[in-house]
Amino acid sequence: MRPLARAAIAAAAAALLCLAVAASTGPAAAAPPAQAQASSASPPASTPWPIPFGAKRKREMADYSERHYGQHRWRLRNPKVIVEHMSQTATAAAVYNTFAPDNPDVELGELPNVCSHYVISPSGRIFRLVNLRTRCRHTVGLNWTAIGIEHAGYGDGDLLGDRRQLRASLRLTQYLRCRFGIRVHDVIGHAESLSSPYHHELVPSLRRQTHGDMAHSSMVVYRQQLRRLGRC
Ligand SMILES: [Zn+2]
Repeated sequence: MRPLARAAIAAAAAALLCLAVAASTGPAAAAPPAQAQASSASPPASTPWPIPFGAKRKREMADYSERHYGQHRWRLRNPKVIVEHMSQTATAAAVYNTFAPDNPDVELGELPNVCSHYVISPSGRIFRLVNLRTRCRHTVGLNWTAIGIEHAGYGDGDLLGDRRQLRASLRLTQYLRCRFGIRVHDVIGHAESLSSPYHHELVPSLRRQTHGDMAHSSMVVYRQQLRRLGRC
């Protein structure tokens, strides 16, 4: 986590949102389900592990969208951006356990709780946490149009230096960007959120809010490798 200058005061809290998982063990803690069969076909093998996202959470997401984007919607339609994250946790289970309960998030205190559509474990297992037709809170300013992918780990180097996790991440991202017609330069790191042409935030105090995970220098490497997977 290297929050940018404007977010320095919130650094401690920011480290929690991406995500604050230390306190996420307990009776509700879950273990990952069994791995799906590997496949050479696109999309890459992934395992459904849905977090609860019932009517109440959808209503809260629509209310959130109205406050922040001026649209009373919880549906994600025609996503234009993919945001890569580092979870600040060691495991995918810790990420699941942070997202699953619908409590106000620890950084901004809003409902619904934060989430991402996918989490990828250090061993390269891909878990689908939220339906791609549903908006998730993972990146201020972009939740109206962005798919979120969490990677279990801390620094960006944990992903870039882990061949299995990186390979899974690149394959998933390539599949998603081709499915939705998302350009390589709209595959961004969380730390690049403010420079996205799709960034839009109605709450003045949040207009410069971002996090430090997956910095530009890391994403230069990531996008270079993504381009090597070829055109859609
Ligand atoms: Zn993040």
